[in-house]
Amino acid sequence: MRSFEYERASSVGQALNHHAAAQRPSYLAGGTTLLDLVKLDVMRPDQLVDINRLPLRQIEALPDGRLRIGALVTNSELARHSIVRTHYPVLSQALLAGASTQLRNKATTGGNVMQRVRCNYFRDGVSPCNKREPGSGCSAIGGHNRSVHAVLGTSEHCIASHPSDMCVAMTAIGACVTVQGLRGSREIDFGDFHLLPGDTPWKEHALHPHELITHVTLDAPLTGSRSGYLKLRDRASYQFALASSAVIVVMDGPRIREARIAMGGVGTKPWRAREAEASLAGQSASMDLFAQAASIAFRDAHPYAHNAFKVPLGQQAIVRNLRNLTGTEAA
Ligand SMILES: Cc1cc2nc3c(=O)[nH]c(=O)nc-3n(C[C@H](O)[C@H](O)[C@H](O)COP(=O)(O)OP(=O)(O)OC[C@H]3O[C@@H](n4cnc5c(N)ncnc54)[C@H](O)[C@@H]3O)c2cc1C
Repeated sequence: MRSFEYERASSVGQALNHHAAAQRPSYLAGGTTLLDLVKLDVMRPDQLVDINRLPLRQIEALPDGRLRIGALVTNSELARHSIVRTHYPVLSQALLAGASTQLRNKATTGGNVMQRVRCNYFRDGVSPCNKREPGSGCSAIGGHNRSVHAVLGTSEHCIASHPSDMCVAMTAIGACVTVQGLRGSREIDFGDFHLLPGDTPWKEHALHPHELITHVTLDAPLTGSRSGYLKLRDRASYQFALASSAVIVVMDGPRIREARIAMGGVGTKPWRAREAEASLAGQSASMDLFAQAASIAFRDAHPYAHNAFKVPLGQQAIVRNLRNLTGTEAA
């Protein structure tokens, strides 16, 4: 392992200053992504800025109905918070579907938003990978691309899927990310935070250099909504999604008044399926309707040699989630 400097910050300003003073700095939160990648020689920070003492551990209900989550709130704390369990069950379920209890006790909200892809070629530290080594190529496109590779939002330069469960739920709920930089703070819509790989797969998010995530604020829950997260994977725990869906519905008798759908495991970023949502609005719930919406969600899918199965699997994740939430029976 390469040597690095370690600084422990006691205020946001101090963290920003430490970060700005180094050439290849990284903020250290729970360390469950970062320390793995440092040991694998994939991330090579010359300075770790430990942010664990910053006052960013609160979950706060705002007067306008939104929920403000400090960047250092752990995945476990967030999943079991009473407001999250009651008003955002999709988020609680998504968090509990991720990693293991031990990891969730360390992993933080900011770190989860910023976690890196699980592509084997990114993580092996030697194969050509445009994310790790810009311009070197994408080994996954002609290589083994089954479980952690996307069918939506890919480019000829990168096909790694986004690994987070939490972010899929936040994409469906709607949220904004508050970031603090040396020149002040700003808010980024959650849907704009993660970037498509395009020609620049090494640019994964909308943070400017040195900016620190301080909070994620969830939109107010939809009145009368039901929500759930369904994750399909190779084994039932401690495994990343092959395909997942976060669904929120508001019913009006037998009709769907409003639906939100986001998908995980299948996109290069947490994937909102807005056209599929629109196809459900105002319609009577039925299995045919759900199948049609699921088909719309994958209309632009581009499967690779080993992951074509993700298209029907992802569609099933949507159909089953909608069926469960609406109590619809097959005709
Ligand atoms: C074995 C294993 C299985 C896993 N399974 C799943 C799974 O099934 N589903 C899932 O969703 N996740 C899974 N994860 C990933 C896990 O959720 C992430 O590792 C975790 O959320 C990262 O949070 P952290 O606080 O540990 O981040 P760290 O490792 O500390 O940091 C991660 C990155 O974020 C940056 N960062 C951290 N905080 C901030 C901040 N406030 N502002 C700006 N940058 C910041 C760091 O510099 C670093 O680049 C798994 C991880 C492991 C190791």
